[in-house]
Amino acid sequence: MEAILDKLGRPIRDLRISVTDRCNFRCSYCMPKEIFGDDYVFLPKGELLAFEEVERLARLFALLGVKKLRLTGGEPLLRRGLPELVGKLMDVPGIEDIGLTTNAVLLRQHARPLYDTGLRRLNISLDALDSVIFGEINGRGTGPELILENIDYAKEVGFDVKVNMVVQKGVNETEILPMAAYFKERGITLRFIEFMDVGNDNAWSFRKVVTKKEIFSMLNETLDLEPVDEDYYGEVAKRYRYADNGAEVGFITSVSESFCSTCTRARLSSDGKLYTCLFASEGFDLRELVRSGQSDEELLMAITEVWNGRTDRYSDERTEQTAKNRKKIGMSYIGG
Ligand code: SAM
Ligand code: SF4
Ligand code: SF4
Repeated sequence: MEAILDKLGRPIRDLRISVTDRCNFRCSYCMPKEIFGDDYVFLPKGELLAFEEVERLARLFALLGVKKLRLTGGEPLLRRGLPELVGKLMDVPGIEDIGLTTNAVLLRQHARPLYDTGLRRLNISLDALDSVIFGEINGRGTGPELILENIDYAKEVGFDVKVNMVVQKGVNETEILPMAAYFKERGITLRFIEFMDVGNDNAWSFRKVVTKKEIFSMLNETLDLEPVDEDYYGEVAKRYRYADNGAEVGFITSVSESFCSTCTRARLSSDGKLYTCLFASEGFDLRELVRSGQSDEELLMAITEVWNGRTDRYSDERTEQTAKNRKKIGMSYIGG
């Protein structure tokens, strides 16, 4: 076992685990309605990793150095029994931090049970405060009130909450300042995410990206921001603090300032495929190995081999052509 663990080249620090490919939203940049219509076929239950399988894989990744887990989807709150899974993952030796990314639609009923299992960190996606803009983006006509109420509720329960906003030119850049003001006042960190060409269906183009530089200069006209030092090696968000009240904003600059050279993130899909990049075309089928009775050593060897063979630097090399022509997995499938 020791000999296998020594073979990993670049470390794997964090693992994103998608627990379902289903969602109760159809965000235009992630699950466009034309593709994910009512007749779209999601993964059947038997294809999803069982909680015991997720737990076992998490334990093996932890042996390889993973310290942080993030549960995602699709919409992770749609996965039945999620608190039970969180409970199992909390007990995995070596895991120091577990987060959950959610659209928060179902958070009212799930916040307390999740908190009681030990989950403390939530990233909540919200792209606008304006009802019409938000309703159009989420494809369901849902207004922001429900999400805002559930953010307040999650804070009340005791969660550390961050809000993620994907910014698209011509869609919601008018919401940047209202969102910043709203969350600054409440002391909640807001993170601006550059619109990415994940998958092949969201009609992405460089022209639709609002860059960190553009967002920062909009904020900086009226708000006094100072940079915050990196918390740890390879931290993805570039962070700033408001000089007057200490609330933070962050930027995920995957398009304008890519960070492939420090990328130590692996991704596990809900059907058990290991992806070494958000923009990969193919994953490695760990579920098949798990279900065919491979030992922990064999699984560790397989993961190490896949990770060591990794050459991913998609965002460093992105062009309009790669965005269009390269076959890529979808965001709702792999979970961001
Ligand atoms: N359903 C959950 C949610 O929306 O929070 C979790 C899964 S979702 C795929 C994870 C994150 O990816 C969300 O914050 C979402 O806004 C972001 N996302 C989805 N498509 C994106 C895109 N094309 N570019 C940038 N971020 C995207
Ligand atoms: Fe669903 Fe999240 Fe994708 Fe929106 S971003 S469609 S909420 S998975
Ligand atoms: Fe990592 Fe791939 Fe994103 Fe680069 S493009 S930072 S390799 S996930």
